[in-house]
Amino acid sequence: MNGPRIAAEVTLPLPVHRPYCYNIPEALSAAVVPGARVIVPVRQRRVVGVVTELLTPGPDGDLKDIIAAPDAQPVLSPALLRLAQWMARYYGTPPGLALRALLPGALWHAARPAGPTERAERVLTLVRRLPSLVEREQAFRRAPKRRIAYETVESLGGSVPVRHLTEQLKISPAVIDGLVEQSFARVDRIVQQRDPFAELATPPPPDLTEDQQRVLDAILAAPCAVPALIHGVTGSGKTLVYLHLMRRCVEQGQGAILLVPEIALTPQTVARVRGVFGDQVAVLHSGLSEGERIDAWRALRSGARRVAVGPRSAVFAPIPRLGLIVVDEEHEPTYKQGSAPRYHARDVARVRAQVEGARLVLGSATPSLETLHLASKGEVATFSLPARIGLQPLPPVEIVDLRRAPRIPEARGIPWSETLDEAVRDALVQGDQVILLLNRRGFATFVQCPDCGDVRECPHCAITLTVHDTPRALRCHYCGHEEPIPTSCRRCGKETQRMRGVGTQQLEQFVANRFPKARVARMDLDTTSTKWAHHRILDRVARREVDILLGTQMIAKGLDFPGVTVVGVVDADTGLHLPDFRASERTFGLVAQTAGRAGRGPRGGRVLVQTRNPDHHAIRATQEHSVEQFAAAELPLRAPPNPVYPPYTGLARFVASAAKDDTAARAAGDVAAWLRGLGPDLTVLGPAPCPVARIQGQWRWHVLLKSTAPRAIGRVIRAWVRTPLATSGAKVIVDRDPIALL
Ligand code: ADP
Ligand code: ZN
Repeated sequence: MNGPRIAAEVTLPLPVHRPYCYNIPEALSAAVVPGARVIVPVRQRRVVGVVTELLTPGPDGDLKDIIAAPDAQPVLSPALLRLAQWMARYYGTPPGLALRALLPGALWHAARPAGPTERAERVLTLVRRLPSLVEREQAFRRAPKRRIAYETVESLGGSVPVRHLTEQLKISPAVIDGLVEQSFARVDRIVQQRDPFAELATPPPPDLTEDQQRVLDAILAAPCAVPALIHGVTGSGKTLVYLHLMRRCVEQGQGAILLVPEIALTPQTVARVRGVFGDQVAVLHSGLSEGERIDAWRALRSGARRVAVGPRSAVFAPIPRLGLIVVDEEHEPTYKQGSAPRYHARDVARVRAQVEGARLVLGSATPSLETLHLASKGEVATFSLPARIGLQPLPPVEIVDLRRAPRIPEARGIPWSETLDEAVRDALVQGDQVILLLNRRGFATFVQCPDCGDVRECPHCAITLTVHDTPRALRCHYCGHEEPIPTSCRRCGKETQRMRGVGTQQLEQFVANRFPKARVARMDLDTTSTKWAHHRILDRVARREVDILLGTQMIAKGLDFPGVTVVGVVDADTGLHLPDFRASERTFGLVAQTAGRAGRGPRGGRVLVQTRNPDHHAIRATQEHSVEQFAAAELPLRAPPNPVYPPYTGLARFVASAAKDDTAARAAGDVAAWLRGLGPDLTVLGPAPCPVARIQGQWRWHVLLKSTAPRAIGRVIRAWVRTPLATSGAKVIVDRDPIALL
C-alpha cells in the first residue's frame, strides 16, 4: 500500500464515550466519508455506525474492516454531525446516543440498512404521440389490444398506474410490455408518501394585519444571527407570521422547520401549514410508523419536501439549505427530552441555526424566564404583537377565592363555586362552548383511611396511587402499577375508605349530572391513548358537537375555537406547591395559556380562576395576562439573597438510582463529594432524596450543581464523562438544564 493508511473513526449507537476505529477496505473508500453510515463488526455482531472522522494515519495495530457502506450519500450533513457533537459535549451524552436521536430508527438496523423499502408504484406513461389515425393503424396493425391499451391511457391523461390497468381495466401485462417494447410508453416507479395528515388543510390564509406585517418586516430586516422572539398575546396571530417567514424561505430555495410542543394537540397549526405549503410539508408525528417516518425523512433529505412540522425531534429534520427554525410556544416543557440525550429542543434549535446560518424564531404568549432573560441582555430580539386579531379584547380574568366563595353543595368535594356554576350555565343557555381545566387526571387523587389516615401508595414508587373510575382501579401514574380499589384499610381494617382530591373523571361525572343537556368531552392521557383520539375529540369541538370540553393541560395549548366564551380553571393550585423551583412559572403559564382559549370569537368571553392562593404572584399575573408582571415578581425570588436558580445560574442535576435506598444514597454522596472537590465557582446541593423518592422499585437520590460562572458547568460535565465514578450498584445520570426536579 502507498501513503499513510487512513482509518475511519466510527461512532456506534451505544452508551460508550469513545469512538471505535476501523480499516477502510479499498472498495468502500469512496463511500466511507464523515456522516455516512457503515456496517461494522462488534464482537460477534454487525452494527450500524456513523463515520465521524477519517484519521490519517490511522492508529497502529490491527483494525477490523468495515463490512459495508450502504449510503450513496452520507445520511448526516456536516452541520448535523456538528450538532450531534455539540449535544454530546453539552449534555454529557455518549456521542452514539446523540447520533441515534438524529436518525430514524429504521436506519439503525444492520440486517436491513436501507430501511423499509419505499412504497413505489409502477406507472405507465405514454412517450410517443400518434396524432393521426393513419399512424395509429400502422403502428398497431397486428396488435389491436395494444391500440386499445394505448388509447385507454391516452383518454386517462397519458399516465396511469399499471395496477389500475391490469386490475380494473383488465389489460394484460403482456400488452403493457408490448407498448414499452415498441417505445410508445415507459414504466416509472413513483414513490408514494405514507402521510396520515395528507387530508388536513385549511383555505389559504388571510392577509396580514398591520401589526403582523410590521413584525414580519422587522424580523426580516434584523440580522439573522440574533434569535427573534415573537411575544404575542394569545390570539394575536403568531402562526401567520411564522407562515410568511417560512414561505419567504421556501421561495428562496431554502427549507424551514416548525416545532410545536405536541403535534396531536396542534392539528389546527398543521392544517394551516398545509394550507400554505401543501405537499411541500412533511408532518413528523410521534404516531408515525417506521415506514412513514423514513418516507418523511427521505423526502426531506432529498429536497422533495422542504418544510418539516413536528415535536421536539423535528429539530433534527435533514433539510438541506435550512433557512429557518420556528419554535412555537417556546416555553413548553415538552421540548425537553426525558431520556438520554436529555436535550432541550429550543436550545438545540439555537445551536443548529447557528451552525447552518439559519434564522431562529421563538414564539409565545408567555415566554420562559430563560428567554426573557436573554432578551433583557440583548441576546434575543423581541418583536411584540400586543393585541388580538380584530382588536378582540383579551378576556377578563376573575379570580375566585375558594376559601370564601359560596360553593354549590351538591358538588361535595369538587371545588365548584356559584360564580363558575352561573358562568357555565349562562354560556350553555346562549349556545356557547365552555372549557374547563383541571390538571389532574383520574377520578380522585388518592384513597385515605378516615380512621388511621393511611394513604395507599404504589408498592414500586413513592407516590400515592390515583383512583380511576373507568376502568375502576388504583393506578400509579409513574409506573402503571394497578390494583383494586380497597374496601377496607390495610393497616387498621376500617371498612370505609375515603377518596381525596378531585380528578378529571370525577369532574366529568359531576358536570354531566349538573348540566344534563350539555354534551361533555374529556381530554386527558386516559382518553387519548389511541391513535388520532386527540383529533376526534378536537374535531367534535370544532364542529360544535361538544358544549363542554374538560381536561388536563392538554386543553391549554394552541386551540383556537371561536365558540368558547367561558374558560374555567377549576383548581389553579394543583401544581403550585410542588417542590420544584419552576412550580410558579408552570402554574402561571398553564393558567394564562388556558385563559387565552376564551373570547376568540365575536361573542367575547370570560375566564374564572378558582384558587386558594388568590394573592400568589403566579395567579395575580394571569389576571393582567402579563408575563412581565409575573417575571417582575418571580425573578427576584431566584436571585440572592434567595437561593439562586435559573436564569441566574447554570444548573445540572445528578440522579442516582438503585434497588436499595442506601446504595443510591451512597452513590449520590460520592457524586456530591467529587463535585465539591472540583472548584470554588461551584455550588453543590445535596445529596438529598428526590421528591419522588422511588420510581419503579428504584430509590432515587439527587445532587444539584449550580454555577454562575459561564463555563463551569460544562467543565464539570466533561470531567464527569471522562472520569466515571465507581458507583457500584447504582446508576447515575446527569441532566443539564433540568426542567423538573421531582
Ligand atoms: P396565536 O397563535 O397568536 O394565539 P393564531 O395564530 O392562532 O394566534 O391566530 C388567532 C386567530 O386569528 C386564528 O383563528 C387565525 O386564523 C386568525 N388570524 C390570524 N391572522 C389573521 C389575519 N391577518 N386576518 C384574519 N384573521 C387572522
Ligand atoms: Zn408505581
